Amino acid sequence: MTEPARRDCDVLIVGGGAVGSALACALAELPLDTVLVEAQEVRQLSQPGFDTRVTALANGSQQILAALSLWTELKGYTEAIRTIHISERGRFGAARISAAEERVPALGYTVENQALGRVLWERLRGAQRFTPLAPAKVLRVERHAHHVTATIEQGGEQRELRAKLVVAADGARSAVRTALGFDALEHDYEQRAVIFNCATEAPPAGRAFERFTSRGPIALLPLTSGRSAVIWTLPSALAEEIAALPDDTFRAELQTAFGYRLGRFTRIGARHLHTLVRIASGAVHGPRAVLIGDAALRLHPVAGQGFNLALRDVATLAEVIADALQAGGGSADVGATEPLDRYADWRAADRERVSTFTHGLIQLFGESVPGAGLTRGIGLVAFDLLPGAKALLARQTMGKAGRLPRLARGLPLS
Ligand SMILES: Cc1cc2nc3c(=O)[nH]c(=O)nc-3n(C[C@H](O)[C@H](O)[C@H](O)COP(=O)(O)OP(=O)(O)OC[C@H]3O[C@@H](n4cnc5c(N)ncnc54)[C@H](O)[C@@H]3O)c2cc1C
Repeated sequence: MTEPARRDCDVLIVGGGAVGSALACALAELPLDTVLVEAQEVRQLSQPGFDTRVTALANGSQQILAALSLWTELKGYTEAIRTIHISERGRFGAARISAAEERVPALGYTVENQALGRVLWERLRGAQRFTPLAPAKVLRVERHAHHVTATIEQGGEQRELRAKLVVAADGARSAVRTALGFDALEHDYEQRAVIFNCATEAPPAGRAFERFTSRGPIALLPLTSGRSAVIWTLPSALAEEIAALPDDTFRAELQTAFGYRLGRFTRIGARHLHTLVRIASGAVHGPRAVLIGDAALRLHPVAGQGFNLALRDVATLAEVIADALQAGGGSADVGATEPLDRYADWRAADRERVSTFTHGLIQLFGESVPGAGLTRGIGLVAFDLLPGAKALLARQTMGKAGRLPRLARGLPLS
């Protein structure tokens, strides 16, 4: 049967990365026709192995995934983070945040990206009133008073999609953002991250480390099977140089930078380089359109906040849509101004806080002002002794600051 040249739906999600597919999972709980367009082949999710990429999920994100009944499916691919150790190389200060002190089972969890993608798409396979179009690309988006039209290219053919609401989840270089006419402000950190998994003499056993060095921060996150994931941020040219070093020299450089808190590095997996930028869209909503995930705000990964922030976008957007449906009955317009304004107002403070926090961390530890290291060292010690400051950072890191949507409180969407 040939597809009709035009198709209507309630919500069109552009981009089926972790954020777009998580939103589709949340919306699948509501009486809505949702279409998700993803440029890549979904089957490209490969088997997890030693080198699989990893995301640190805040405690609040775990709640959202659990409320969507996705958490049990992720079991076996997640590792609890029970302490976070923050230190600076060559300085005496160190701070520790622990799950026990915060009275939670874990501060957060690491999850393998492939497992996350697979679980989300597996859920969508059985979703009612959901249509995935992949691989397919959104070429154009136009807004009208009562709907949005998108031109889609799939299998060499173009067709039109009409939706009440378009959600851009198409990543940091969002074409939908450009099509909607939203400006984005870009800050180039002139840094790159060398990313790899590793094994150490002592298994991390739930310990995460954030170590600031004069050349940039190193984050080490605990993974399943005694492995750790490392994100090593360096000035761009140096990152390229270090990433290309022979194995033994690379290991020695890493050991010097990270120290011996987990003993020697015994195995180092394939290294990948990522350019680090912050890209903030000037607006995250407008008539019949919302931007979520990296399309709205791409962050430096130093604090592991990007996906966590986006999951709160997902939970909040799904909630305002659920409320609009409940208030309006069968005739609710999910792309109307009122729910979208409510969404944008609700999300503004969290986005600003996380963005400032992440950017501030880079500025603070990136400075090479004489004496700044000393101040930071004292700051870290003072911070370790200050329960108020620690609790605030812990709440932020766990994704529990500010007013939380229902899913983030473990409650059903509607
Ligand atoms: C090194 C690194 C480490 C990180 N670690 C963490 C962490 O520990 N914790 C955390 O919370 N965050 C972390 N982040 C951030 C997190 O990875 C991102 O915030 C998140 O992946 C963004 O997902 P997204 O779905 O918005 O965008 P993307 O993953 O970029 O997905 C966008 C999707 O849209 C599709 N697409 C693009 N254009 C079109 C189009 N025109 N038509 C159809 N489809 C299209 C693409 O194919 C893609 O699948 C990290 C980021 C980096 C770089």
